[in-house]
Amino acid sequence: MKVQDSVIAITGGGQGLGRAMAEFLAARGAKLALIDLVPEKLDEAAVACREAGGEARTYVCNVAKEADVESTFGAILKDFGHLNGLINNAGILRDGLMVKVKDGKVEKRMELSQWQSVIDVNLTGVFLCGREAATRMIENGDRGVIINIASISRAGNMGQSNYSAAKAGVSALVPVWAKELARYGIRCAGIAPGFVETEMTASMKPEAREKMTAGIPLRRMGRPEEIAHAAAFIFENDYLSGRMIEVDGALRL
Ligand code: NAP
Repeated sequence: MKVQDSVIAITGGGQGLGRAMAEFLAARGAKLALIDLVPEKLDEAAVACREAGGEARTYVCNVAKEADVESTFGAILKDFGHLNGLINNAGILRDGLMVKVKDGKVEKRMELSQWQSVIDVNLTGVFLCGREAATRMIENGDRGVIINIASISRAGNMGQSNYSAAKAGVSALVPVWAKELARYGIRCAGIAPGFVETEMTASMKPEAREKMTAGIPLRRMGRPEEIAHAAAFIFENDYLSGRMIEVDGALRL
């Protein structure tokens, strides 16, 4: 699929990887529908996309809320007339051990709310946006591409029961949707990034960052544009569907 003039929705498009992917695709002439929670961040991202050479509109929407998602995609279709792509990128972290033990006693456990909030955004949000995008593409007669952003943590990372389960889940949806939607001209693929320099990882303690970087065979964190490059490749390669691309500097958990 040509990126030029394609209408592509990106969740979590206001900052980090979502914004980097939006700017990268804007530079190739895409029309971006940026979805996020905070209007100011969305506005800044839209300006950056226009400066990069693309069109951009913004939509405040909580991807974990069914009604929000339905009305947002309705508005995108009304504004642009078409939908050719969705990048399911919005995500949160609420890390913690399932059980934290001291002197043989469990002193802390992952709260159900901690589990549920990550599942709601990172897994249910992906389902809701994927279902809505597919519905709109099919009913509008648009060919398109859905990309789920997972993580290296899908393999199972200590302290991330909630996040690892959600990322394994969105990876599993990739071949499911690729098989179900191929007949409508919709491809689906995923990207599993390693550690990338964004606001999400900037919040890590410096010691933890250093230790983590030392374990990456390429000896550095990924750059957001390297993930964006993989997303553009998925859009442009019409025989790529049902698979995950791992962009992680050879790090393995
Ligand atoms: P980020 O900087 O925290 O950006 C995520 C964006 O999603 C934020 O703007 C956030 O808004 C938004 N968001 C959160 N909950 C939302 C909701 N319910 N509805 C709509 N938008 C919501 O994260 P990032 O590092 O760019 O990560 C983007 C994706 O890549 C995530 O799925 C993450 O799991 C994945 N990933 C990142 C890395 C990495 O190293 N950075 C590695 C592997 C995978 P607020 O800030 O206002 O909450």
